[in-house]
Amino acid sequence: MELIDGNQIAQDIIDELKREVASLPGRKPCIALVRVGEDPASVSYVKKKEKACADIGITSRLIFPPVTITQDELFAVVDGLNADPDVDGILVQSPLPKHLNEVAVFRRIAAHKDVDGFHTLNLGKLAQEDDTGFVACTPAGIMELLRRSRVELAGRHVVVLGRSLIVGKPAALLALQRRPWANATVTVCHSQTAHLPALTRQADILIAAIGKAEFVTADMVKPGAVIIDVGVNRVPDASRKSGYRLTGDVHFPTVAPLASKITPVPGGVGPMTVAMLMQNTVKACKQNRNAR
Ligand code: NAP
Repeated sequence: MELIDGNQIAQDIIDELKREVASLPGRKPCIALVRVGEDPASVSYVKKKEKACADIGITSRLIFPPVTITQDELFAVVDGLNADPDVDGILVQSPLPKHLNEVAVFRRIAAHKDVDGFHTLNLGKLAQEDDTGFVACTPAGIMELLRRSRVELAGRHVVVLGRSLIVGKPAALLALQRRPWANATVTVCHSQTAHLPALTRQADILIAAIGKAEFVTADMVKPGAVIIDVGVNRVPDASRKSGYRLTGDVHFPTVAPLASKITPVPGGVGPMTVAMLMQNTVKACKQNRNAR
């Protein structure tokens, strides 16, 4: 079994982007990070993104409206950033407070600044295999992890657990594309799927993105499969100062010995999500300049 080291692969990408940004003429790429309220997980995610920006030489502009902001006020923030020629990318940190319509906010972001890849136009471009669009960062990170770990997808069976717009669906579309490091045969499973273990046992590559701690057990995995664990779940753990530990959607202790390659949680897919956000921001900067 080989551990896929997401921290190292993400660091390689960050180093490559640092060199690319240093060679870009004119002002540096700029991303606006919008964080509504003080949700501790969101504070921590945005800090990681700011740090990656600083490492690469991307300008990050942090905007943190209060949790009481209204939908129209948040639209006005996004509209201002859409119109600002110095801003290349806009990220609105999810989840938003319950009184705000998240999908409407994602759609309000100009598609050419949508570095999270959640805008309708970018999802359409993904389905059309149009490279000018932005692909959501977590699924893009999964594909990059597989490519850089030399996992061949062509002709192999990829089973995706989960069909969210943020992870499962775009991951399935990426694996299905007609291009090198794709061309897989893809099955997508969800909460209504019958005979799930029989399907997961067919997977040459299993991508688990359901948000259920240690759901995938050894009896659901074909020996030799490649396992990508996207899940980030907090389970109570009294032995830790925090009172919890992080675990994936895969029961690592029993599945890892069966797998040919596997991602750990933490340190697998998570760091790749940030690296892909950085890559999308540099891409937005280059595309926006060319469009002017
Ligand atoms: P989500 O929007 O809640 O979607 C979960 C998906 O899993 C849904 O499609 C759901 O089916 C399916 N599902 C739930 N229970 C299932 C079951 N028992 N059997 C089969 N399918 C089941 O979650 P998400 O946003 O995609 O995130 C999934 C996980 O990835 C979470 O743990 C999240 O924290 C993690 N995540 C990690 C990163 C990262 O950077 N590492 C980024 C994003 C998300 P239905 O559609 O039928 O409801």
